[in-house]
Amino acid sequence: MNPFTYTGLPMRVVFGAGSISQLAAEVERLGAKRALVLSTPGRGDSVRKVAESLGASLAGIYDKAVMHVPVEVAEDARRVAAELGADCCISVGGGSTTGLGKAVALTSGLPIIAVPTTYSGSEMTTILGMTEGGMKKTLRDVRVLPRTVIYDPALTLGLPAAISAASGMNAIAHCVEALYAADGNPINSLQAEEGIRALAAALPRVVKDPADMDARSDALYGAWLAGVSFATTGMGLHHKLCHVLGGTFSLPHAETHSIVLPHAARYNRDAAPAAMARIARALGAADAPQGLYDLEARLGMELRLSAIGMPREGLELAARIATESPYPNPRKVEHAGVLSLLNDAFEGRRPAA
Ligand code: NAD
Repeated sequence: MNPFTYTGLPMRVVFGAGSISQLAAEVERLGAKRALVLSTPGRGDSVRKVAESLGASLAGIYDKAVMHVPVEVAEDARRVAAELGADCCISVGGGSTTGLGKAVALTSGLPIIAVPTTYSGSEMTTILGMTEGGMKKTLRDVRVLPRTVIYDPALTLGLPAAISAASGMNAIAHCVEALYAADGNPINSLQAEEGIRALAAALPRVVKDPADMDARSDALYGAWLAGVSFATTGMGLHHKLCHVLGGTFSLPHAETHSIVLPHAARYNRDAAPAAMARIARALGAADAPQGLYDLEARLGMELRLSAIGMPREGLELAARIATESPYPNPRKVEHAGVLSLLNDAFEGRRPAA
């Protein structure tokens, strides 16, 4: 076995159907008395129910979280937290809401309790992505790590099948890149492979019946593992492309990840054979890139960048930005290959064997 470094992040996890009932106790455990609850707009009733369970410890609800944490929204939420005298934030939602909580924690030091309701895995990482002037910038800082994460699959029953599938594939993308990361290690790889296995088995059941609590539990378990495996390994070409497409072309985050993933895996396939063998094994497929594509087709997902707002004339610019300052990647990141990858993703072609 090659030498490696493993970083374990301090994290308390409360997992299981109904575990949201422990929220007030978890706030108390942090010694907090005035919690600000964060959410995206339109999640009204379910977030209000969670917030009301805090009783006198509820300082307020801020429901303006949006994708990719625009700096203006982060500053507004920080202002509200300060005005209300909040001593803790609770993010109830997907990666957009968790990201807002992290942005508040970064400058205020307030402890965060994350209650994830999608599978994006942000709650497990020290990574914060924010957008300013149309560009997404990502930082790693341990100050943004939630202190406690409550995974309650009951809160995910209302997540529509299509968003569940895309979010689950976003989680699988974390696992895929963790498996071939330059700074990967055997412990992360165990978690990443198990994350793919759990999600690939659960997502078809979730899509068939979004109210299937067992399937939702398995998917959330896979998402947790995906977040953990992503947290301490570097990102590669896949994440770089998704950051470019999301930041510069405003494409939807999870769908972009889903569509790009089989093609990014195809780009790296021959340069990372051990990782590809583990991905294929976890998917129960003969070939990793094709297995990812086939899983998405089975989930009824959109497979073309052209269908989610990508302009054809933007492909060249995206390839150029992704190539100019690439993340470490098993295969050298070269313009022609990346442009060809993007063209395949644009058209939704099944990756070649
Ligand atoms: P999201 O948080 O934007 O949520 C997508 C939509 O689903 C929103 O409209 C939201 O209101 C709705 N929603 C969420 N949970 C729901 C539920 N249970 N029922 C019904 N509707 C629900 O989507 P996401 O994919 O989870 O997050 C994307 C964001 O997270 C991006 O900004 C991305 O950059 C970030 N992210 C960060 C990390 C990290 O480690 N920093 C990791 C992954 C994603």
